[in-house]
Amino acid sequence: MDELMQQAAQLLAQAQHAVALTGAGLSTPSGIPDFRTQDTGLWENYDPMEIATLQVFRRRPADFFKWIRVLARQMFDAQPNPAHYALAELQQAGCLPHIITQNIDGLQQRAGARHVIELHGDISTGTCVGCYTTYRSLDFKEEFIDAGRIPTCPRCHSIIKPNAILFGEALPVRALMAAKRAVANCDVLLIAGSSLEVAPAADLPMLARSRQARLIIVNQGSTYMDDYCDVLIRDDVALALPAIAAQCLSGRAADRFSLI
Ligand SMILES: [Zn+2]
Repeated sequence: MDELMQQAAQLLAQAQHAVALTGAGLSTPSGIPDFRTQDTGLWENYDPMEIATLQVFRRRPADFFKWIRVLARQMFDAQPNPAHYALAELQQAGCLPHIITQNIDGLQQRAGARHVIELHGDISTGTCVGCYTTYRSLDFKEEFIDAGRIPTCPRCHSIIKPNAILFGEALPVRALMAAKRAVANCDVLLIAGSSLEVAPAADLPMLARSRQARLIIVNQGSTYMDDYCDVLIRDDVALALPAIAAQCLSGRAADRFSLI
């Protein structure tokens, strides 16, 4: 396993333009269960595939908000874990210009990362369906999460929709285009905490590969790209990513030193 981490660190250290693609597995060490996974104990009788939809939001907002309230409370209370900090550190050192995420929890940014492309939106903001004003979710924390009321727009009294992308809703075009552009131009793609089951994020590794990029996968479960990647690490992201980041950064420092 150490050798694999060393290989991953070396690929990242030598990359001109590395990109990370992260999924729900990155935030499970922070206590956030997979948004789309059933039987985690969190959802009780809810099936996210049935409740986290645009249709339920429009027709049964009370049910929708009852469901998302639990998720939002958990995400607001969660803290970034070592995997988030490792990616942020790599980015701050110039090793990881772009991070693309399927997560909506904002933990990557809270760990210090910038240039995070959020493919599935985010839960930290919401938009009024009547006048399209955008609000910070925290401004409605008391009303929405603590008191359990449906959040409404102070201006026009329409419902405020969390900016998380629901089933049946199109992905944000700008984010998707930015993600494709970053992946098309990368020479190393680090996939962390994603089982690559949800399109179109799941299609990005193929795009990277078609451009001859090297692929690193750090994930506990298997993915359809396992046979095609250059380094496969089946380990906890919160253990593996800090180790990879430390080796990558010390390798780069040693390279710089040897150039002097
Ligand atoms: Zn409004």
